Amino acid sequence: MPRSICETCGTQYSDAPAPPARCPVCEDERQYVGWHGQTWTTHESLAARYTVRLEDDAGVLGVGLAPDFAINQRALLLLTDAGNVLWECVSLVTDEAVARLKARGGVDCIAISHPHFYSAMVEWSEAFGGAPILIHEADRAWVQRPFPRIEFWRGDEHRLSDSVTLIRCGGHFPGSAAQHWRDGPRNGGALFPGDALQVVFDRRHVTFMYSYPNYIPMQPSDVRAMRNRLEGCEFADVYGYTWGRNIIGGARAAVDASFDRYLSAVSS
Ligand SMILES: [Zn+2]
Ligand SMILES: [Zn+2]
Repeated sequence: MPRSICETCGTQYSDAPAPPARCPVCEDERQYVGWHGQTWTTHESLAARYTVRLEDDAGVLGVGLAPDFAINQRALLLLTDAGNVLWECVSLVTDEAVARLKARGGVDCIAISHPHFYSAMVEWSEAFGGAPILIHEADRAWVQRPFPRIEFWRGDEHRLSDSVTLIRCGGHFPGSAAQHWRDGPRNGGALFPGDALQVVFDRRHVTFMYSYPNYIPMQPSDVRAMRNRLEGCEFADVYGYTWGRNIIGGARAAVDASFDRYLSAVSS
């Protein structure tokens, strides 16, 4: 039976004789239904039309689709002291991609920031022997293809090792999370926030939106709560949600300045 993949958000659904009537991820006000109405594809059909793009992004192996697909996030393979973490996920996995990642030691676990990037996470887990998938408990209802290897973590922090911690940022989704890697990929460490905070086009600031495609700003109280949770977290770089959307060097100061700029813009 086909497992449908939404062509607008890239989410894969469970086996069913027919595609779902609707995509709740896209009907939510943080996303949108495609301009030609709801359309579906499958993993097999994607494999015939797309390849997995594997390229360096600021010193880290990025994993995306070519040509661009759906929200067009790129995942990252992080070689950490917690093992090889696939941060985020995409809608297609191919034998070639698996071989390329295995050449770097494979994937020990998959950690995903929020529901917009759940994509084909189960296909990726199965390709790496049932690697656990770490998702925040607060977003459990958004999982469209349940799977026993999904591990829901709770609270504001989840430590994977001495240097790798998942931090709940909230705001965009209640469970929106960032990965903090204290020791890598370069000296000074890095933050991988998905789009809980989003690197903007000048690549010297971030912003905070409840909905990016529909331009709904994040509540100031949620932004302040995120700021508190990230306090004391040091990083030189921020890796944003897609190719090249990174702040390399001076990122902690850039994020602090961005908190100030945003909060002064939305407060009277
Ligand atoms: Zn969708
Ligand atoms: Zn999002």
